[in-house]
Amino acid sequence: MKKINKNEIATFGENTRLVIGGREPDDYHGFVNPPVYHGSTVLAPTTRDLLDHTQRYAYGRRGTPTTDALEQALRAIDGSAGVVLCPSGLAAVSTALLSCLSAGDHLLMVDSAYGPTRHFCDGQLARFGIETTYYDPLIGEGIEALLRPNTKAVYLETPGSQSFEMQDVPLIAGIAHRHGATVLLDNTWATPLFFDAFGHGVDLMIQAGTKYIVGHSDAMFGAVSANRKAWPALKGFYGDAGLCAGPDDVYLAMRGLRTLGVRLRQHQESALRVAKWLAKRPEVLRVLHPALDGDPGHAIWKRDFKGSSGLFSIVLQPAPEAAVEAFLDGLKFFGLGYSWGGFESLAIPFDCSHYRTATTWNPGGPGVRLHIGLEDVEDLIADLDAGLARFRAARG
Ligand SMILES: *Cc1c(COP(=O)(O)O)cnc(C)c1O
Repeated sequence: MKKINKNEIATFGENTRLVIGGREPDDYHGFVNPPVYHGSTVLAPTTRDLLDHTQRYAYGRRGTPTTDALEQALRAIDGSAGVVLCPSGLAAVSTALLSCLSAGDHLLMVDSAYGPTRHFCDGQLARFGIETTYYDPLIGEGIEALLRPNTKAVYLETPGSQSFEMQDVPLIAGIAHRHGATVLLDNTWATPLFFDAFGHGVDLMIQAGTKYIVGHSDAMFGAVSANRKAWPALKGFYGDAGLCAGPDDVYLAMRGLRTLGVRLRQHQESALRVAKWLAKRPEVLRVLHPALDGDPGHAIWKRDFKGSSGLFSIVLQPAPEAAVEAFLDGLKFFGLGYSWGGFESLAIPFDCSHYRTATTWNPGGPGVRLHIGLEDVEDLIADLDAGLARFRAARG
């Protein structure tokens, strides 16, 4: 295999970049994958080398060949100036926020954000003297009126990972930048393959790698990628906070990343088939999936996104909780569990009404979020069909 020049990688297609990014077989006796370096101490050959830091690696927390390989592989697909690897998606969220906010600053946070992200803002950021205001995900140019002289960051997540509202990222980013604020985006749902965050004005992109990057429900991982402007502060905070991701999880994330393209395209295709089937069912009031024609976020999705993943929600006809439980409890292929992005299908009931503060959540019936895994769609549809029959029977 001929050695590929680093600058040339950007000219290849995304699947090629997923496969070759960060790989240096010549450094590892020809083995396709880098070894998992478990290490804290790095030994120097002489006192001079130790004191003058002449070696590429100095200490485990500061990086290893394994972490370098994953950082380069992630950069090969997201086009960022730099990436930091975090022990979880939530650690990536907190790292990104703390890298660009200081005491006395104001943060604009989308009302549809991942629940623990809100909890971090309301508890920890407040403790550090950083004030958070929540805004409607559909605010559009209305964001301008919420910006204050001390608003240093605007945080987006699109679509919302339960309610699936689509945000106008370039519009909000443009306004935020005119006021000097940093733009952060949680891009876990689309990944860089389906949404080019930096091309749409984002400064700091967060991914809960636990979901689609790892892809096999076997590791916790997160990443923050930065453009040139946001990179120095991100790198500085990450180093000072002593953050690093465990070597085995870094390896599992890299292994998952190689197949992200094929997995995501299959999640997309299967989820669309299931979503379209559900949309025709009388038990289902609404399907919340931005890639469906009639969805309120469809126009923005079509304009800005290159694909959709395996996660979407449905709103059932009004029914007692017991009917929703009858639907969920008998499912054969849909596990009942949090998280998503693995090879397997999942289902959870959800209700955004207890935590929303800038908007009200009143969709007209109980919500169920589905993750469509890599099983055969016919089997998944048969499973849901039987579940909806149980729902009907329990609803009376
Ligand atoms: C799961 C999730 C996170 C947090 O990731 P963890 O790895 O579970 O900490 C952050 N954002 C979104 C949108 C998520 O779905």
